[in-house]
Amino acid sequence: MKGIQNAIIKYALSAFILIFSLTVFSGEYFLIENNQKTDSLLVYAIDGVRYVDLNILSSALSLTTSFKKTQEEYRIESEKSYVILLINSPYYKSAGNVYKMSNAPVYHKELILFPLSSVKSVFDKILPDNAVYNDSKLVLTSLLKIKSIEEKSDEIKIVLSGKPSFTVETGERDILLFLKNTFVDENKFRIKNSKKLIRVLEPSCDKDESTIIITYAPEYEFSKAIASGDSIIISFFKRAKIDTLNNLSFLKTIIIDAGHGGKDPGAIGPSGLQEKTMNLDMASRLKKLINAGCKNLDVVMTRDKDEFVSLAQRTQLANKYPNSLFISIHCNASKNKSTKGFETYFLSTAKTDWERAVEARENSSLTFDLPEEERKGLDFILWDLAQNEFLTESSRLAEYIQNEYEKKYKADNRGLKQAGFYVLKGNYMPAVLVETAFISNKEEEKKLKSKDYRQELSQLIYNGLVKYIKEYEKKNTK
Ligand SMILES: [Zn+2]
Repeated sequence: MKGIQNAIIKYALSAFILIFSLTVFSGEYFLIENNQKTDSLLVYAIDGVRYVDLNILSSALSLTTSFKKTQEEYRIESEKSYVILLINSPYYKSAGNVYKMSNAPVYHKELILFPLSSVKSVFDKILPDNAVYNDSKLVLTSLLKIKSIEEKSDEIKIVLSGKPSFTVETGERDILLFLKNTFVDENKFRIKNSKKLIRVLEPSCDKDESTIIITYAPEYEFSKAIASGDSIIISFFKRAKIDTLNNLSFLKTIIIDAGHGGKDPGAIGPSGLQEKTMNLDMASRLKKLINAGCKNLDVVMTRDKDEFVSLAQRTQLANKYPNSLFISIHCNASKNKSTKGFETYFLSTAKTDWERAVEARENSSLTFDLPEEERKGLDFILWDLAQNEFLTESSRLAEYIQNEYEKKYKADNRGLKQAGFYVLKGNYMPAVLVETAFISNKEEEKKLKSKDYRQELSQLIYNGLVKYIKEYEKKNTK
């Protein structure tokens, strides 16, 4: 009887040992990618803890090791630093400090096994900054590594392990960053449904390039992305709180006319900046502002891409919309390279030499769609003031817009102007033409190149427009 009992106990004990202390190859491998070479390390499981052979791990990572058998001290060294591990103890030393890992390195037969869960914390102290760890893999590459993505109120800072090389593409509300020769940990940096500046951040890693798509909050506008040391700084500006207009009963449509386009570049700046591009950009910004602030107004653009639209086509289009306002957006130019500032025109017979000069330049678009012989005889300055019932309204609208600029930039004020612009002539609605800045002036050409400045100019036009609409609505709904 006793013999049987002993046998049962013995059997149970060995089964217990078998189940709970079984040292086996777990069936998995831990991969080490060291530049172009890949090693697959057996993963051992002991009491539920996963280990790899420390000697193989160190050599796969090209690290120097030494083992003092009497003290059971295992030393691993790299160019960067060293660690000293103690077999059967979770404590270890590195650069004069003592640390603790979650499981101790252990003997197994003639092997020394190292716990996989501590690979990152321990080897991070000796491996280069671009080492990338995850549950099944350790990658040592010459790729840069994204170390952190920090978000401030109007800035995103991406810190890398070296000087970044990247390109940016921008969309309505997102930015695409293409980072050459860079690794990004897709899981670590992914952001979903945030309420802050970054709403969504989607990193993806291809062989040797990373892409990061950032969707940002609608109250922000992308400003620029620049490299600064080992970081990329993406800056934004917060859109100013805009005046809103709701429940308009008379006014239905705002026609925004981006001057020139296609084969007609408009004026060209000293560094080659084309007026047509700036006009379209500011017109689009104005459209966005109106869409956001005046919910029941429609916005019609005479052009929404870089294409040629004749002056006649522009007014014809505008006249299809009753109860509308017409705003033409341009950049000014002068032979005098120091001339700068903002001018708002409304239609009338040209009054001064300056006004005539601007008028002739803007009307020169006509020459792009007329045969040679017709250009000479065209008298586009003629305008019968008596026929323009909208003259007063146009001058009020121009005044409101001009005032907004003058409030902000007193020094550059060039005032309200009258001229016989062809594009305003056939319009049966209040119509103005805004010369936002002098593209011929080096300083203003540079300012125009900045999105922030173009946004500001569009905002000024919007502010003036809203003030005018309030007055115009009142008059027409009496
Ligand atoms: Zn123009």
